[in-house]
Amino acid sequence: MTGSQYLLEAGGRLMLVDSGMFQGEKPLRLRNWSEPEFSPGKVDAIVLTHTHLDHIGRVPRLVQLGFRGSIFCTPPTQALAEILLLDAAHLQKEDAEYLNQKGLTKHQPALPLFDETDVQEAMKLVRPVPLGRVHSVNDAFSFSYRDAGHLLGAASADVVVHENGRSTRVLFSGDVGRFDAVLTKDPELAPDADYLVIESTYGNRTHPEISVIDQLEGVLKKTFARGGVLLIPAFAVGRAQQMIWLMDQLVTEGRIRAFPIHVDSPMAIDATRIYASYPEAHRVSLNGIGGRSLLHGKWVHLHRTRAESQALNDMKGPAVIISSSGMLSGGRILHHCRVRLPKQENTLLITGYQAVGTLGRALLDGASTVRIHKGQVPVLAEVRDLKGLSGHADAGEMLRWLSGVKGRPQAVFVTHGEADAAEALAARVARERGFLARVPALGQAFELAPGAAG
Ligand SMILES: [Zn+2]
Repeated sequence: MTGSQYLLEAGGRLMLVDSGMFQGEKPLRLRNWSEPEFSPGKVDAIVLTHTHLDHIGRVPRLVQLGFRGSIFCTPPTQALAEILLLDAAHLQKEDAEYLNQKGLTKHQPALPLFDETDVQEAMKLVRPVPLGRVHSVNDAFSFSYRDAGHLLGAASADVVVHENGRSTRVLFSGDVGRFDAVLTKDPELAPDADYLVIESTYGNRTHPEISVIDQLEGVLKKTFARGGVLLIPAFAVGRAQQMIWLMDQLVTEGRIRAFPIHVDSPMAIDATRIYASYPEAHRVSLNGIGGRSLLHGKWVHLHRTRAESQALNDMKGPAVIISSSGMLSGGRILHHCRVRLPKQENTLLITGYQAVGTLGRALLDGASTVRIHKGQVPVLAEVRDLKGLSGHADAGEMLRWLSGVKGRPQAVFVTHGEADAAEALAARVARERGFLARVPALGQAFELAPGAAG
């Protein structure tokens, strides 16, 4: 996936909006190592939209290369970014050590893209800015954040560029969430702007109309009737909290009898604490009946240590284990799969997109045996796919989000999606709204004209 990064230049000042990592196949990941086309030391500020690595993952690298300006983000993004970047630094260290041990690298020795120190240096530059407050960066740029849904802390960046006494309003969507989603609020509709830069992850797709909680109820009841354990691989930030809330909801509504939920991921535990500490940021209260925090629910058990994690091996159903990583590409979920997949009473519930080549994808495609930690594991457990939890607006929802634009922008730049998705969304924006919509190439520059909306 393409990392998002936009460079604005006005009156000799430079500002970035997002600085994301390339993720996925190796040729893409190698791009993270390429030198930026600008001098990081000359950039005055970075405005981050949200904490996913494809939006913030290159920040520590820029700091390593001399960036010393301010990094702006919302307060929840500040808290989440620290745990995500430290985790990314840790994974890169492991990858580098693995390559060195196996002699699989041309670079001697293989190095991580950034380390913990780079992350800590980056976090010192962070200046939190709450939603809705106009912040002046310098004489060239000011901005405010608008709720984008999508994820706790996620925002669109509404930037005003000041140059030669004129101003130009440029709205960066960031990742736009869904309407009526689990936990996140509806995205604030796009405002009038001279230019819009919008994401297109689902630009050529429509999400199915399907009740997530009804599907989950069915899966839980079926698994528990067999005396099984439901195993849920989940991203530690966002998905894990949605799953806890949904299950809590089923119990609270009396649709299912209470059952233990084991959260086996230190990162998910940290992220859940952060979720609970921003009660106003969610669609629903995370402090349930009697002020009981979602995190400390009677049935929610948190496991930090490896020993606690291994102690779950002998546990009988009914019970749920939530663990990461979400695509089963590593982490504690693998050892739970090794234990639970060979037994037919259990269920593995996939809750998000599974990239080609991942273990999660193989299981969804019906593999009868899978390879985990160098051993063959027979798959007798049921494998199910929970649909409808995507954090991204689909094409129709992007148009709904754009319905807030009443005037006529000079252009809409459609970015951050596969080429097909971006082209499809651009075509719809042009057809249904009559706006000039373009899909820029990576690295392409545009001269923005000052406009009326600024
Ligand atoms: Zn995102």
